[in-house]
Amino acid sequence: MRNGLSKDLIARVLGGVPKYTLEELEAKYPPRQLPEGAMVTRFAPSPTGYMHLGGLYSTLIDYKLAKQSGGLFLLRIEDTDTKREIKEAVDIIINSLSEFGIKNDNDVADYGPYYQSQRKDIYHSVAAYLLEKGWAYPCFLTQEEMDALREKQKLNGLATGIYGEYARDRDISEEDIIKHLDNGETPSVRLYSMGDINKRIFFKDSVRGSISVPENNEDIVLIKSTDRLPTYHFAHLCDDHFMRVTHVVRGEEYFGTVALHIQMFHMMGWELPKYIHTATLDKIDAETGKQRKLSKRKDPEANVEFFLQEGWPTESVIDYLGNILASGYEEAKMKGQVKSFWDYELKPKKIPMSGSLFDMKKLEWWAKEYIATLPVDVLVKSVVDWANEYGSEDNKKQVADIDYLTAVLSIERDNPKRIRKDFITWQQTLNEVSYFWDFLFNANKEYEYNVDALKEFLATFDIKDDKDSWWQKIVYTAEKLGLKPGEIAMNLRVAMTGRTNTPDLYSVMQVLGDNRVKERINKIL
Ligand code: GLU
Repeated sequence: MRNGLSKDLIARVLGGVPKYTLEELEAKYPPRQLPEGAMVTRFAPSPTGYMHLGGLYSTLIDYKLAKQSGGLFLLRIEDTDTKREIKEAVDIIINSLSEFGIKNDNDVADYGPYYQSQRKDIYHSVAAYLLEKGWAYPCFLTQEEMDALREKQKLNGLATGIYGEYARDRDISEEDIIKHLDNGETPSVRLYSMGDINKRIFFKDSVRGSISVPENNEDIVLIKSTDRLPTYHFAHLCDDHFMRVTHVVRGEEYFGTVALHIQMFHMMGWELPKYIHTATLDKIDAETGKQRKLSKRKDPEANVEFFLQEGWPTESVIDYLGNILASGYEEAKMKGQVKSFWDYELKPKKIPMSGSLFDMKKLEWWAKEYIATLPVDVLVKSVVDWANEYGSEDNKKQVADIDYLTAVLSIERDNPKRIRKDFITWQQTLNEVSYFWDFLFNANKEYEYNVDALKEFLATFDIKDDKDSWWQKIVYTAEKLGLKPGEIAMNLRVAMTGRTNTPDLYSVMQVLGDNRVKERINKIL
């Protein structure tokens, strides 16, 4: 510990008198009145204009833990580091979460603001407390001085950074502080670390179990000199304490600095949140065949918006991520014990510790299964909503006549035991049935039609025929021409749809209707 600074000097170091005392902050953001065991979690993205699938993955954990325990889920915008257009970037996050059915509880109690850029008063008030206690100090090292030190440390095979004897201003006197300030310099505020890297801290990670890590001895920056905003480490301390977060779910990249975070919570005498460090989402690289992280640069599916734009059922993305998170979920769902991931109890201990594979082929399976369970009106609504928001002009035209679309999508959906599983995304669904619309229908010109078969069929065709009579006519035509009924049906199928593989042909023709059926056959003839 070092000497604390006077109030006047603290105000000069921070560029203003801090607004609150620690007691005032404690009173403003008191412990929450929640039922025993209720978890308060948060998703704390930096608004980059891009939401990574890994962010959705950890948010699912946050949201699930909060909801299943009767707690709260918060969204905190970590915007102290970004020079970008914040509003648009935040909209992308909020919109993506809401498309996946995730709503934050920021408004439930007034523990905001939830943008870090608006919480400067809080950070400065806590920093002032530390400066007064002698647990932090102003540091006037310039970038050049730090770079030179770094080089020297490297050359001598030492750990780089500002620590111990290399922390030049650790014990700086009041007079020297005043000299620097009078000189117009703005200091950073650094932690006065009492940690010893030869000692270890023990803690319990909710996923990884009991763990020990070396103590932190670095005098890390708490408040930056450039803009007097907090670093991630300091903001995490202040925000997760004063938002009364109980469980911090974050990427494993933060595991390396957890000793520092524990040190700061202990120093403040604050209750340590429980940590859940999640593993990365990986994929098998198509070129190397090796497992690697999903990459923002290389993989379209690393972007949450990709799933919205292509019209993947968000429920199936959640189902699949849920299955990665909780190995028993798939079985419970298949057995009908739970309806969706939201009903399944997530146990932190079961969350995977090392990189989990996210495989688009597996997602396809979840999506097909999911769509197959939908009543037709829900299927239609999903397709229409998607087309109007994300679809092409053609897609929008496809969904303009809801009755016709409903008839198209109803084919082979009446028997719950034999639902077709060929729909994967809303976009692909519309492509799959595109031949029902004349403006998208491509007559198959390659196919070698049996013109006589088509002629004969047409002569007897009556749209009002029931399925049996319709088939009898095909059988009759086949006999007359010395062909098999299947051959007649194939000729009709290709003539109607341009394809050799379609759902039940009778239903297809019923939906196409008298005019289209005749027109399509006549065109070929
Ligand atoms: N802003 C940090 C990130 O996006 C938050 C990490 C955390 O959840 O504490 O990685």
